[in-house]
Amino acid sequence: MNKITTSIVTLVLIIAGSGAVIYNTASGQDFLYKQLATLATGQKAINPEGLNVIVCGSASPLGNDPARAQACIAVVTPEHFFLFDVGARAPMRIAQGLLPINRLNGIFLTHFHSDHIAGVPSVNMNSWVAGRDTELNVYGPQGVGTVIGGFNTAYQLDQTYRTAHHGADLLPQVTAAMKPITLTPGIAFQDANIKITAFPVDHSPIDPAMGYRVDYKGRSVVISGDTVSTESLFIAAKNADLLLHDALSEPALETLIAAMKASGNDRTANIVGDVLDYHASSTNIEEQSKKAGIKQLAFYHFVPVPNLPLVEKMFERGISSDVILTKDLMTFQMLPGSEEIIVTDP
Ligand SMILES: [Zn+2]
Ligand SMILES: [Zn+2]
Repeated sequence: MNKITTSIVTLVLIIAGSGAVIYNTASGQDFLYKQLATLATGQKAINPEGLNVIVCGSASPLGNDPARAQACIAVVTPEHFFLFDVGARAPMRIAQGLLPINRLNGIFLTHFHSDHIAGVPSVNMNSWVAGRDTELNVYGPQGVGTVIGGFNTAYQLDQTYRTAHHGADLLPQVTAAMKPITLTPGIAFQDANIKITAFPVDHSPIDPAMGYRVDYKGRSVVISGDTVSTESLFIAAKNADLLLHDALSEPALETLIAAMKASGNDRTANIVGDVLDYHASSTNIEEQSKKAGIKQLAFYHFVPVPNLPLVEKMFERGISSDVILTKDLMTFQMLPGSEEIIVTDP
């Protein structure tokens, strides 16, 4: 070993040794954590231009993948922040994506399956703590009053504890509980820049179930919620820039059901078998999407959850490479006056 090599090896050992000392002593840990905490707490919420669609949950309840939260789509403009469904783990994605939780304007629910609502109370609490200055409106089809009334009852004590602890100036009770707003198909929300339209979808036997279309300064996104491929959606989605549609892979699901039966798990196999006819098969949506003049089709709410690249390949059967299989925190940005959709894959 020559002198230079010896010096480099010595230097590396000293640095590694110092690192170990810093990491394993109280003062070293305090120093390191101060740097990391300063970085973390200094992060600012996003405030992007144009119409931005962020996938805050791409999973269905069937299958587990820690990389995917359950159903959640965020729509962010410089003036608005709306969520469309908030399933389990979605509040974590909303925080990871630095979404502007303090200015959350409302939540739109497509229907009341647990994978679309489980994260609603956490989001309400997080935005209240972050300083939301009006009560949180939660829009949905008939039944939203029951669901939100139940959440409000369940979290009432938590909210009174927090107000008592931190004071009514910081956490006023008047903005603590959520306000349910029952929708029927038609315009659900409108201001000078944005229009949100609710339309019926077919998630039979779950009825009513809705999808939503958002139009902002000439750009648009349609969110399917859970549905089979249905005409009402493609009428509402006509000429939209982006369609986020739920997707079921029949070959993957049928293989999964067969494997469950083979291993003696008939109960789960029967429950999963019931799912086959109430989500949209990925292969028959693209053609209808093209006919409706939709510029970009993307899938989310995967049934089953593609926890392996192999399963993603199975979802790709019978569709063109133009179709996007979303991932959590994938972002679509649409600027007014442009036709481009800027896709950011995390
Ligand atoms: Zn669902
Ligand atoms: Zn559902």
